[in-house]
Amino acid sequence: MRDDAPNSWESRADAFSLYGFTDLPSVHRRGAVVLTHGEGPYVVDVHGRRYFDANSGLWNMVAGFDHPGLIAAAQAQYARFPGYHAFFGRMSDQTVLLSEKLVAVSPFDRGRVFYTNSGSEANDTMVKILWFLGLAEGHPERRKIITRWNGYHGVTVCAASMTGKAYNAQFGLPLPGFIHVGCPHYWRFGQPGETEAEFTVRLARELEATIIKEGPETIAGFFAEPVMGAGGVIPPSAGYFPAVQAVLRRYGIPLIADEVICGFGRTGELWGCQTYGFVPDAIISSKVLTAGFFPMGAVILGPDLADRVQSAAERLEEFPHGFTASGHPVGCAIALKAIDVVMHEGLLDNVRALTPRFEAGLARLAEHPNIGEWRGKGLMGALEAVRDKATRTPFEGHLSVSERIANACTDLGLICRPLGQSIVLCPPFITTEAQLDAMFDRLDTALRQVFAEVA
Ligand SMILES: *Cc1c(COP(=O)(O)O)cnc(C)c1O
Repeated sequence: MRDDAPNSWESRADAFSLYGFTDLPSVHRRGAVVLTHGEGPYVVDVHGRRYFDANSGLWNMVAGFDHPGLIAAAQAQYARFPGYHAFFGRMSDQTVLLSEKLVAVSPFDRGRVFYTNSGSEANDTMVKILWFLGLAEGHPERRKIITRWNGYHGVTVCAASMTGKAYNAQFGLPLPGFIHVGCPHYWRFGQPGETEAEFTVRLARELEATIIKEGPETIAGFFAEPVMGAGGVIPPSAGYFPAVQAVLRRYGIPLIADEVICGFGRTGELWGCQTYGFVPDAIISSKVLTAGFFPMGAVILGPDLADRVQSAAERLEEFPHGFTASGHPVGCAIALKAIDVVMHEGLLDNVRALTPRFEAGLARLAEHPNIGEWRGKGLMGALEAVRDKATRTPFEGHLSVSERIANACTDLGLICRPLGQSIVLCPPFITTEAQLDAMFDRLDTALRQVFAEVA
């Protein structure tokens, strides 16, 4: 565990690095896990210990940590043209190729792509596009953004305002004009006696009531993850997206799918919106876009928004937005390869092939008296710990049950993520059946150990 010597990796990490999204008492006690490299779906720490990373890094390293094709694509592009921007009508050939590819694999017949360095920036960019359109089209009042409680859209000021998590109050966020509606988690928020279909209708009505109360002419867009990721892996209730999209269409409000996690195969289709049978007005992509090998995000506009932004920009002579590294040639070359690897080297097929085994593993662990629910889609899943299964009563917060489970897993060579009262699993797409079984066996051991301590 922790090496307390002042020159240990753990002490040096503690002394000079500011940890993000980290349970600080626990990391001070246990020490940071400092990693040197990876092998397939495993990462290796400075002490030579190997961990199966059941979270694919942060949902993104779906091809593992040493994929030779992705490394070769990066090396070749670094040798050819190691950096450029996409301003002033200049961009790399790789950027041209990637935009073509993204539109071709998107659910849109036509479209346009704008690049960022992250998912947060892609969401901010999309909001700026909507605001830009409002002004250019003579609707300066059209600025409000609707998202859901528990939705996660990132950490920049705008994306954090969209994120429906209580912790953003610690920054005095959300900004005015960012509105949150209900989370479509039937198990947790369904009312006594309410069917799942009734729950979905109630959420669609709530959205419509919110739109009417705020003034339909003031709403610029509605953003949603097909499956909520950092909210705790929450698939929508049955029929949710068609119901919500019908409401939005009545008021001409664009539906933006934040596919940063779902995009490129996680749910078993290329896009989460395909899994749930809807076509959004635009897609936000990042994470799996480069299989985690490069920081990159993309806004993919569908035909209507693409045309409107293009004509607004032509009238105003420019769209005044962009990042220095937008459309970075190395990132684009890696993304082109990553899309190929996911679609044509068996990764998406493997997600589909593994899903029944993954679901069976989750269902088996959910038989434990202190697991209230398993949920998931494709190769993303969560187990929710409860004090009382019948009443769905959570454990007391001070027990930090999910942290303890994740820590016990780490000691067993398994990295998985505590999120609220749940444990989140989203293994790499290259995972084998044997590795999946070993993951569940270790998690089972950790669950028994921690529940014996706290039950
Ligand atoms: C991770 C994530 C983001 C933010 O992406 P960053 O690259 O961390 O800025 C946005 N939306 C969703 C759904 C995410 O999971």
